[in-house]
Amino acid sequence: MADYDRNNIFARILRGELPCKKVYEDDHALAFHDINPQAPVHVLVIPKGEYVSNMDFSANAPTETLAGFWRAVGTVARQLGLEQDGYRLVANNGANGGQIVFHFHVHIVSGRNQRPRFG
Ligand code: 5GP
Repeated sequence: MADYDRNNIFARILRGELPCKKVYEDDHALAFHDINPQAPVHVLVIPKGEYVSNMDFSANAPTETLAGFWRAVGTVARQLGLEQDGYRLVANNGANGGQIVFHFHVHIVSGRNQRPRFG
């Protein structure tokens, strides 16, 4: 597994060195609007710890951190009012999985027909 780069964009957002349009924050997670939205609602949720990807996060984060993060993902979706509309959760994992920013994150995407496509 690649080492965590402390200067990746999301690390810099977490440290307040770069701005973001914040949606939600608690002890475990920060959520903010994607800079290049792919749908009417496109929010990113990131853990506060240094995890490269889901492979890293799922294997190495303490249970409380895992639970707190995933609870926050649900809280953000609820706060965005998406319960009725529905939404997708996407986590790109590794360069071949489409990951560009190597700080683990989950995309919350909603607002148009989100029929899942996996090809
Ligand atoms: P990935 O492909 O790594 O899952 O997605 C990274 C996401 O981060 C992309 O959707 C991209 O638009 C978003 N992104 C990249 N740089 C920034 C930034 O500086 N601010 C915000 N808010 N989003 C960013």
